[in-house]
Amino acid sequence: MKRMNIVITGHVDHGKSTLTGRLLADTGSLPEGKLEAVKAMCAGNSRPFEYAFLLDALADEQKQGITIDSARVFFKSLMREYIIIDAPGHIEFLKNMLSGASRASAAVLIIDAKEGIAENSKRHGLLLSLLGIRQVAVVVNKMDLVNYSRDVFEGICRDYGLFLAELGVQPQHFIPVAAREGVNLISNSVSTPWYTGKSVLEALDGFDDEQSLEDKPFSMSLQDVYKFTENNDERRIFAGTPSSGRISAGDRVDFLPSGKTSVISTVEGFNTEQRFSAGAGEAAGFTLETQVYVKPGEVMVKEGDESIKVSDRFRANIFWLGSRPFETGKEYKLKIGCAKVSGTIEKIEKLIDAQSLEKETDRKGIRRHEAATLLLKTSAPIAFDTFDANEPLGRFVIIDDYNIAGGGIILDALEKSSVKR
Ligand code: GDP
Repeated sequence: MKRMNIVITGHVDHGKSTLTGRLLADTGSLPEGKLEAVKAMCAGNSRPFEYAFLLDALADEQKQGITIDSARVFFKSLMREYIIIDAPGHIEFLKNMLSGASRASAAVLIIDAKEGIAENSKRHGLLLSLLGIRQVAVVVNKMDLVNYSRDVFEGICRDYGLFLAELGVQPQHFIPVAAREGVNLISNSVSTPWYTGKSVLEALDGFDDEQSLEDKPFSMSLQDVYKFTENNDERRIFAGTPSSGRISAGDRVDFLPSGKTSVISTVEGFNTEQRFSAGAGEAAGFTLETQVYVKPGEVMVKEGDESIKVSDRFRANIFWLGSRPFETGKEYKLKIGCAKVSGTIEKIEKLIDAQSLEKETDRKGIRRHEAATLLLKTSAPIAFDTFDANEPLGRFVIIDDYNIAGGGIILDALEKSSVKR
């Protein structure tokens, strides 16, 4: 069955855990007897039952190692399994997403119908825009508290929609929900006869699967070149893990940015096993028919492939975690794929404080926990891709003083600078 990683965000108390717990219960995704057990425990303690308790109970089990698939909360529809990426705080979330530890394909943003849009609702919208998550459903929760008022719902949709549009986020769905009552979660409810859109589960099911990396054109950042001498013959093994596509013995390849070319002679796995091909995520070594001298960090593609960009300038969204600011005029080390290169800020296009959401333009540096859209310039041309097209080659980390101090995603390649070095 297919899987999709999703993130559910919302201001505290707007109903994130209730929505999650109720989705688990209503889709039959809970362990047998769990719902009844938690309900009985609440009754025993004369405590009203909360769907959020289901999550606590699951978390307890995970701590005790009872659940096999630990640290993963998921529910299933007929279409796929949804894995909920836990985002305890938005800083952890950004770190995880930018480092590639976890990546969400879709997001659910929850807003309390009675309280309306909170600062955090705005911050979460900002995060989605920074991370380039494009499949978004806005859920207006606790509709029971506003008598399922269409006016209230539409007011929130209008205001929040306008705010998100400014950030370039266009939700596919706005859904009126009462998570606790199960309204519009799995199917449409009679409580909102005026609403003809999708339920939360239908909206999620309607989202597209990420195109599998293996279905994309082949690319691999060269990790290292190992030299062996065999019967007085020098053999070079070009090692790396393909980020996308698949490559086979006999394929002609180009290396970028050097433009050198060769033909794959053999594909080697570990323990000298011979393989015929290697696909996205499968670490391998390659021998080539003609020797080429290329450096780690060059990207190997199939001959003539133009999907990978080569430039020394690109636009990116970055998030800064360093204790010292990320400053214009200073050199940093950037790591993109296996390439390490010096880089400087060419221009700060937009700077956003992730805490206060204040936008500023006239500043020379980006402080800890700030996010920005930047133009970056590297000391030499490198090969990369946009995050949208090829996640592993469209993501980078910024190193300051030997520490990872920030991370970012590449939005687009810019024209190579004309200055020769
Ligand atoms: P979280 O902090 O976003 O995870 O919020 P919770 O899921 O813990 O919910 C906060 C409170 O709102 C709890 O007391 C829930 O019972 C309540 N709540 C959640 N959904 C609804 C709803 O649809 N209607 C009403 N009236 N209360 C709800």
